[in-house]
Amino acid sequence: MVTLKKFSTDIGCKDRISDGGVLSNSSLFDKLEQKVLPLSGPEPLPKSHDYDLVVIGGGSGGIAAAKEAAVLGKKVAVCDFVVPTPTGTQWGVGGTCVNVGCVPKKLMHKAALLNMDLQDARCFGWKVPERIKHDWFEMITEIQNYVKSLNFGYRKIFREKGIAYFNAYAQFIGPNRIKMTDKKMTVSEITGQHFIIAVGERPKYLHIPGANEFAITSDDIFSLERSPGRTLIVGASYVALECAGFLIGLGFDCTVMVRSILLRGYDQQMANMVGQHLTSLGVKFIYKCVPISIEKISEGVASRLKVTSQKDTEVIVGEYNTVLLAVGREPRIKDLGLEIVGVKLNSDNGRIICNDKDQTSCPYIYAIGDVANNRPQLTPVAIHAGKFLSRRLFGKCKVLTDYINVPSTVFTPIEYGFVGLAEEVAIEVYGKNNIEVYHTHFQPLEFVIPAKEDNVCYAKLICLKKDHERVVGLHILGPNAGEITQGYAIGLKLGAKKSDFSNLIGIHPTCAEILTTMEITKASGLSVLRTGC
Ligand code: FAD
Ligand code: NDP
Repeated sequence: MVTLKKFSTDIGCKDRISDGGVLSNSSLFDKLEQKVLPLSGPEPLPKSHDYDLVVIGGGSGGIAAAKEAAVLGKKVAVCDFVVPTPTGTQWGVGGTCVNVGCVPKKLMHKAALLNMDLQDARCFGWKVPERIKHDWFEMITEIQNYVKSLNFGYRKIFREKGIAYFNAYAQFIGPNRIKMTDKKMTVSEITGQHFIIAVGERPKYLHIPGANEFAITSDDIFSLERSPGRTLIVGASYVALECAGFLIGLGFDCTVMVRSILLRGYDQQMANMVGQHLTSLGVKFIYKCVPISIEKISEGVASRLKVTSQKDTEVIVGEYNTVLLAVGREPRIKDLGLEIVGVKLNSDNGRIICNDKDQTSCPYIYAIGDVANNRPQLTPVAIHAGKFLSRRLFGKCKVLTDYINVPSTVFTPIEYGFVGLAEEVAIEVYGKNNIEVYHTHFQPLEFVIPAKEDNVCYAKLICLKKDHERVVGLHILGPNAGEITQGYAIGLKLGAKKSDFSNLIGIHPTCAEILTTMEITKASGLSVLRTGC
């Protein structure tokens, strides 16, 4: 029974080293612990419930779980609510990926690549005017229209599948019971037999003067109605580098402020190559530097922000039109009422601890996606987890989500795709003498006529000698690396050896074929630099 009442509320690496695992920010020890997690916490009450499944969070994972449960004939509810950013940005149902992540990001990546293609086009005989202009607002409008169509699509799916959708903020108030507060502060309560928490994460802010008032995050950039202008990006991981990539590609002056190193926790040789390529495109990097204050020095559309930063012992000052914080993401689950139902968190990162069945310390509550501890924070991971969890709960399926060997790509102008171990992790796990690295630079055919810089693109296969050179890491930096890595990832999942890669006949002329022809090992010390002929 749904009850309604008015209520006032406050809404307010040592990385994974499992064989072939992708680096994540969580430790090996968490991974081992999750297998023996004792289950404790309130048991479900033996009574009927409003829903068979209540999903908290209508993003990638939550929607996948809800749809699958509905297909299996279950009565399902989804609650999704977006707390606006400090600058007031908010969006519709669908979660991070659709609204403020993968989808708008990839479209902006495409917009930036088009600019580069337009420059190249001249070399292929196209008469492209010298001065070409990009309209930020037009791009944003097109992207946001598409995003809104996806929001609409999800609501339609809910209706068609008979899923109850509540655009409300959910909080546990007792065993098997949540209250939901909508934007008019109307409160309702529902009960469920099973719960899935799929509330994702939100960008972190910096505790420095001016950050909340004047800086934006990835939650704002994709719907920013004014052109960003001269932009400072603080942070140096996925979000920071991808944003730097599309901003420079769109023609904006762009600086990245790096606290330590690029893409910490990921293969450092590849990370540095990503950085070098961004530098060659014009991105400025300020290393060993953190901001200490942000002040507004002029108002208006092209408002100017003064950023004071600490670089080693020196204080430096810069002026920008936009400051984009990309300093990581965090779960916002303090007020979810998890202590009431006995759901345990990892005290280091605040994420929900689960066993390998995605079950939390409360037996009828599960957690999937970004909010779950020790999972790669990627959309297809959340979707797979949601779909297979519902199949296990309500169907005959026993298949667990395999969180190892998950492929991923950093969508910088030259994409960096990888699956399996970083070279330094492979060495740490197996020892340097047990690892053979095959590698080479390569020049995509399409780079030849525009005479693009040599030795930008690179690939390596990290192989385990004692297991017939089984490939435990694949890394490629080049155009469409995401597409390439997706296909080859099945090889790593099936335990492919270097000889399997060598026996595979390539498709010519492609970038992907380079992985079938690599002969030079790092140990040989032979040069893999291309000399231009
Ligand atoms: P989310 O999609 O974040 O959904 C959680 C939902 O729950 C949100 O709508 C939230 O508002 C809602 N919610 C939170 N608390 C409550 C509550 N108490 N009650 C009701 N609702 C609540 N991944 C890729 O695979 N490829 C990419 O290219 C990629 N690019 C990215 C780019 C950026 C800029 C960012 C930030 C992320 C990117 N990701 C990418 C990561 C990907 O977006 C996430 O891994 C994915 O969205 C996680 O899905 P989820 O279901 O766990 O959570
Ligand atoms: P990360 O946690 O990976 O990186 C945070 C960055 O911010 C690091 O460079 C860190 O530096 C820096 N930082 C943290 N605190 C501060 C501070 N106080 N001052 C200055 N710098 C600071 O976060 P991201 O948000 O980039 O990515 C989160 C996850 O989202 C990724 O791991 C990925 O799973 C997912 N994602 C996936 C994408 C894709 O698939 N293409 C794209 C975007 C995100 P330091 O190294 O010094 O700690």
